[in-house]
Amino acid sequence: MRGEICHLHLGQAGTQLGNAAWELYLLEHSLMPDGSIDPDVSQEICQRGSYETFFTETGNGKYVPRSIFVDLDPSTIDEIRTGTYRHLFHPEQLISGKEDAANNYARGHYAVGKALLEDVIDRIRLVADNCSSLQGFLIFRSIGGGTGSGFGALLLERLSAEYGKKSKLEFAVYPSPSVATAVVEPYNAVLSTHGTIDNSECTFLVDNEAVYDICKRNLDIPRPGYDHLNRLIAQVVSSVTSSLRFSGALNVDLNEFQTNLVPFPRIHYPLISYAPVISSNCSGHESFKVKDLTFQCFEPKNQMVVCDPHNGKYMAVALLYRGDVVPHDCNQAVASVKAKASFNLVEWCPTGFKLGINYQKPISVPHSELASVDRSVTMLSNSTSIAEAWSRLNHKFDLMYSKRAFVHWYMGEGMEEGEFSEARENLAALEKDYEEVANDTILSDREVDLEY
Ligand code: GDP
Repeated sequence: MRGEICHLHLGQAGTQLGNAAWELYLLEHSLMPDGSIDPDVSQEICQRGSYETFFTETGNGKYVPRSIFVDLDPSTIDEIRTGTYRHLFHPEQLISGKEDAANNYARGHYAVGKALLEDVIDRIRLVADNCSSLQGFLIFRSIGGGTGSGFGALLLERLSAEYGKKSKLEFAVYPSPSVATAVVEPYNAVLSTHGTIDNSECTFLVDNEAVYDICKRNLDIPRPGYDHLNRLIAQVVSSVTSSLRFSGALNVDLNEFQTNLVPFPRIHYPLISYAPVISSNCSGHESFKVKDLTFQCFEPKNQMVVCDPHNGKYMAVALLYRGDVVPHDCNQAVASVKAKASFNLVEWCPTGFKLGINYQKPISVPHSELASVDRSVTMLSNSTSIAEAWSRLNHKFDLMYSKRAFVHWYMGEGMEEGEFSEARENLAALEKDYEEVANDTILSDREVDLEY
């Protein structure tokens, strides 16, 4: 028994990403939309996976996701209540408010969100009390809106206080102008990052613009929608969590990856890349050697955050192979990557690579644009180049804040103006932290401080 994981899906993006993730988990575990085992699948296949980390088994043989959905706006959760998966979740797992957070961090954090906090914490406590050994939480949200960003920060603060020893990993949607829904997203993202940086151990940022471009380019979708982005992100979520659900040759636990990926508590935003992303129209014509897939992960265009690792240094890399692969090929692929002149690892981290292999083949949702393939690789890499993404966000924040534009909306929801400057200073310090860890030669007091 590996210990249970509880999924928390917050706000619209968190909820919709949750739908995509659970859709895929069900397929991978041969479960029907109501959580019962697919009668057409043999017992032997079902037993390849372990249900207990992610599902609770009910007396009548159904598996209920160990997850809670929360949105201040009822519409997204109402879609679950009436949609394909309406019998999968227990009604008490679906918590919605009556008024939305209006894309305002302060509304999600101080006003409307605060009123819902105790209910949500009670629900989480019930789930945790029913676990034999809760391992931690996987949190899904966007940082650009109001609920995921504001309520998310409030909830993480509380989880830290009540479940300090449990790991808290996040998949967080980073705002990007081409897919953004509000002008104030940079404010929300900066405020939320400031509010959560000390309360989550590892946050995988997903930049909608990067995922949008991958879908457009590799899947031939002219104008990708959230469904397309979410299904691709779900493949990554599934790979990252597959070691918790299936056995493999080099099966590495989530905690182990975290330990390898996060050298300093604040430097906990690894980049994600996934290969192959290939359209179902092309499959069958391409060969995917382990080495080629590994190299694809190092190409900036395949990353899920727009930044160029050639401008920074890697601190740690985790490669999660899935499907028909052998350890020898993976080790050789890694050796070839390390030998490349363009691969730049910080000097203070001489090994830098962690491998995981899971023999469970990746599955794609039937009739979706993403082809089914025999093997895939997800790369999680901690690169100092992600500071570019923080810097872009900070710049947009500064443009608006120099005029104090839109600030009154935040004050009106009970926030003090000082929080804006505090948050911005914290993010400036984060950029500086990345600069300093990339600097191999000078070990300043500040760098040493980062460790504590
Ligand atoms: P909240 O419900 O108040 O937390 O707000 P949202 O989750 O709608 O946050 C807005 C941000 O999330 C914008 O940057 C949107 O582009 C993004 N977003 C909203 N829904 C989705 C989704 O289903 N998938 C992805 N990838 N991004 C989303």
